Amino acid sequence: MAFAITPPPQPWVPVQGGDPFPVRRIYCVGRNYAAHAREMGHDPDREPPFFFMKPADAVAMDGSALPYPPATADLHHEIELVVALSKGGANIPEDQALAHVFGYTVGLDMTRRDLQGEAKSKGRPWDTGKGFDQSAPIGALRTVAQIGHPTDARIRLTVNGESRQDGNINQMIWNVPETISYLSGLFQLQAGDLIFTGTPEGVAAVGPGDRLEGAVEGIATLSVSYNPKS
Ligand code: MN
Repeated sequence: MAFAITPPPQPWVPVQGGDPFPVRRIYCVGRNYAAHAREMGHDPDREPPFFFMKPADAVAMDGSALPYPPATADLHHEIELVVALSKGGANIPEDQALAHVFGYTVGLDMTRRDLQGEAKSKGRPWDTGKGFDQSAPIGALRTVAQIGHPTDARIRLTVNGESRQDGNINQMIWNVPETISYLSGLFQLQAGDLIFTGTPEGVAAVGPGDRLEGAVEGIATLSVSYNPKS
């Protein structure tokens, strides 16, 4: 088909030892670790999960030097296990959910916390706080064939070599099958969708010149830095 303008490029994520994974949508789970819910001022009782989205082209590659984003003085890191879907569906039962998973990696749900806080206080959408350009740095995917379905793995983040977040994916309030099942009742999921599954405690600010190194141990690593002030 001929388009009126040059079509924008397909966002993608590298796959360890394989062809790149094309990204369709990025779904994110909010407050999925009790200690993080508490540090954000919420009671982590098992309320239904809630979701927000980032644009697909918010992905940023492992190893990137990123510009410090505009319009914020409080850019926060959230290190998260990321699930990639190989097939879609609606109303997927929990016991069939894992059959929809292509693989896993680690990602950063970067957050302009000042803009998110303003949105929360005024009852406005989170998009400017969560869905900005390059707000989703992400590591290379590992396939289910390579690593299975991890349920117990340390997840951690250092900033300039200093530990900031250190948890375990077994602390998630809603596990991966529950999350896929619930999300598929809200949206028709499709191959190419990514799900950021929430962050453990320890979120904090990063500034220009900072280097972030994250990992879900045994799964993936991620390293990005923010350009120094020019
Ligand atoms: Mn998050």
